Amino acid sequence: MLRFGPAGIPIGLEKGGTGEGIEYVSKIGLTAYEVEFVRGVKMKFQAAKTVGKIAKQNGVVLSAHCPYWINTCAKEAVKIETTKRNILQTAEIASAMNAWIIVLHPGFYMGRSSEECIKLSIKTLKETKAEMLRNGWDTILGLETTGGVADLGTLEECIEIANAVEDTAPVMDFAHIHGRNNGCLRKKGDFAKLFETIENRFNEGKKYVKNFHSHFSELEYSARGELRHIPLGKEDEPPFKPLAEAIAENGYGGTIICESPFLDEDALKMKHIFEKLKG
Ligand SMILES: [Zn+2]
Repeated sequence: MLRFGPAGIPIGLEKGGTGEGIEYVSKIGLTAYEVEFVRGVKMKFQAAKTVGKIAKQNGVVLSAHCPYWINTCAKEAVKIETTKRNILQTAEIASAMNAWIIVLHPGFYMGRSSEECIKLSIKTLKETKAEMLRNGWDTILGLETTGGVADLGTLEECIEIANAVEDTAPVMDFAHIHGRNNGCLRKKGDFAKLFETIENRFNEGKKYVKNFHSHFSELEYSARGELRHIPLGKEDEPPFKPLAEAIAENGYGGTIICESPFLDEDALKMKHIFEKLKG
């Protein structure tokens, strides 16, 4: 099964917040929703409980996105503490709403080697995860593949960190992978290779490809990587159809969160492309 949904409040929603947004996506035929805490966790615990109930009643699977300013491999101790605090705040609210995964951008190299950053990131996330478990917040940590060449977060790096930290998984952001690698995703085989990498290198990979979490949109990019997310079908950068084919043919399953400017509308377009392929 493949679920589609918007990253945040659907554009088709006339008024209301997350609860109304979830009801709306369910009504138009979507079954996933990523709650955005990218500019801070502002939702209260009781509100999150209500959001969780609405999602359950409407058959919508929830995920959440941590604040953007997280850096799990920051040089300064104070920034590591801020990072932990932000992940923990997201985890608390995500658990209250029964979101199964919280997505975060691993961090920035700031002139250091990949190995050094991975080591630091693992340390930060292990400590954060331990604190989450002490509190009974069992949400999975999702490491998103990042879009800039200065960011920690290639697929291989996300897998390496995920293998070292309990209940952690790589989250493919196809636009970011494409933008960071000079437009590497063109054909079915290009997408299939990403899934194979997860199956072969991620400890939980064989199981995870049956219920993966991911982000999709088209992208404008430069030699330095990501510039901005753009509407579906505009430039075919990357194209969605070969991804849908790779998923359908290999029997993969999971969630694709749409991050284009037309969140829910493009999520629905993707759903229709995928369903047409499945026949
Ligand atoms: Zn993200």
